[in-house]
Amino acid sequence: MSIKVLSQDMASKIAAGEVVERPASVVKELVENSLDASASVITVEVKGGGLELIRVTDNGHGIESGEMELAFQRFATSKIESLNDLEAISTLGFRGEALPSIAAVAHVTLTSRTPGGETGILIEFKHGEVVKKTVQGCPTGTSVTVRGLFQNVPARLKFLKSTGSEMSKIQAVVTHYAMAYPQVRFALIIEGSQVLLTQGNGVLRDVMAAVYDAGTAEAMLDVGTGTEAGSGNVSVSGLISPPSVTKSNRSHVAFFVNHRWVQSRLLGYAIEQAYHGFLMEKRYPVAVINLSLPYEEVDVNVHPTKAEVRFQKENQVFAVVQRAVRQVLTNLSPVPTIRTVETDKPFAASGSASRHVGAFWPTSLGAAQHSRQEADNRLQPSKGVQRETLKKTLPILRAIGQVQNTYIVAEGPDGLFLIDQHAAHERVLFEKIKADIGGKLLATQNLLEPVAVKLSPEQMETVKSLSTLLTQAGFDVEPFGADTYLIRGVPGLVRDESPADALLEILDFLNEGGGFQDWSERLAYSVACHSAIRAGKSLTQEEMNEMVRLLEECKHPQTCPHGRPTMIHLSSGQLEREFGRK
Ligand code: ADP
Ligand code: MG
Repeated sequence: MSIKVLSQDMASKIAAGEVVERPASVVKELVENSLDASASVITVEVKGGGLELIRVTDNGHGIESGEMELAFQRFATSKIESLNDLEAISTLGFRGEALPSIAAVAHVTLTSRTPGGETGILIEFKHGEVVKKTVQGCPTGTSVTVRGLFQNVPARLKFLKSTGSEMSKIQAVVTHYAMAYPQVRFALIIEGSQVLLTQGNGVLRDVMAAVYDAGTAEAMLDVGTGTEAGSGNVSVSGLISPPSVTKSNRSHVAFFVNHRWVQSRLLGYAIEQAYHGFLMEKRYPVAVINLSLPYEEVDVNVHPTKAEVRFQKENQVFAVVQRAVRQVLTNLSPVPTIRTVETDKPFAASGSASRHVGAFWPTSLGAAQHSRQEADNRLQPSKGVQRETLKKTLPILRAIGQVQNTYIVAEGPDGLFLIDQHAAHERVLFEKIKADIGGKLLATQNLLEPVAVKLSPEQMETVKSLSTLLTQAGFDVEPFGADTYLIRGVPGLVRDESPADALLEILDFLNEGGGFQDWSERLAYSVACHSAIRAGKSLTQEEMNEMVRLLEECKHPQTCPHGRPTMIHLSSGQLEREFGRK
């Protein structure tokens, strides 16, 4: 085939493919134009998954009658003038491509009136050509009607999903812009019925109530930064869900960079890290994260539909988001019981259990003293700060008994707690090991006879590269031939198990990762998992008391290191309701 220059019509249809991939992209471009025109009310109407009708109406500053044709020309924009402007883009649009692209693949009517205009003007395009331009009465603002989208591009039609799925993509676009602009009143009307209406009062929580429900909106926690060292010019604001509100996928986490909705693996990862340990596996939070940073520190011109952006200081942005979210979560008090002087009493009484402290710590660790020391500290009024942090974790519990040799039944100031003994012990050991790993506080239990263990090449790699960490965790191992290691000692915590099996399983876990990013966390978890008492083991009253107390001292007592709950709480209120007393 010889080389030919494409006709204007074909060229513009190809170019349109970049911007107008599907009906939701039309909605996105039109809504962005309305926002760039400083509209405070934006109404989106859709029929037939957007293929039949898309209409976006705003009360923005409108388009001058004389510039209407120009608005539909490629690379015609009022938003930037020079290359310099590209360095610091503050508007959502800037390429001047949307209107011509949409007009190339649909039948478009635009009516607009500027605040100074005596009357509105209507302009109509078919196949990219003006077919009508007349005077038309209308309020200040712009309304763009798009019909018969992709009728003339059958190839594109073929690749569209079902009407329902296109509709949900459109809905996502509108709800996200509503979150990014709480001061704008958004309405979304699908097939004639209103599915979203925001108040436009500038309150993000109210937008969340409109998008989700009042309960979710109320439960959301404010996140915000600004002044921390190392944040540079980056600041974060928004709302995040507490660990009690979760979703089954990631799509409820939204990022906005200078009010632009963006997809970002970097930011997604920052959130995941921040929630690490707070959520069960395969559960995801709801979050609206607004980042604001100088326009010149973010490149928005790297993606055809501007859905992704590039940060100049990626690490900083990551750290700021992660820290801000983590901060809110760690400040949280999921068990909202305030420890008062009176509720301290049962603890003082249970102090008698300290005679038996150590049941869950091998004596080699010297944990008996350690725990007693902590217990004493807790009772001293001068340790105000420590008491304060304890308040945020667990109320004082009194172990009553054991169910199925697996769950500890405990009474607290507000009802009943069922504690999973293995999960709870895992949490206790995990925090302990994590804290001690660097400080070489983890004791080694020397073996009477060294044990030789054959390793796979992968396991050899792991032992070699993590030898320092393994030593810190209490392992004493040395190479013994090409594929064998000698175990001379194991962490004092690892009990009732063959040293070889413990080492092999821990090495395998380290390789798999198990959802932990950090090597020392992985190691802490695998040692904790190995050492924790199992379900099915019968516990004495003293052992139960001690477990409960150790758990009370944890930073995150409510979940095991993997995010599964360590306990279930039945409040006094719930009990009263269940028994019909209230
Ligand atoms: P861009 O947004 O990249 O500038 P568009 O093709 O989307 O390009 O729009 C072209 C121009 O038309 C804009 O620069 C703006 O001046 C004008 N325009 C489009 N939509 C509106 C609107 N809703 N209100 C006011 N002006 C608009
Ligand atoms: Mg635009």
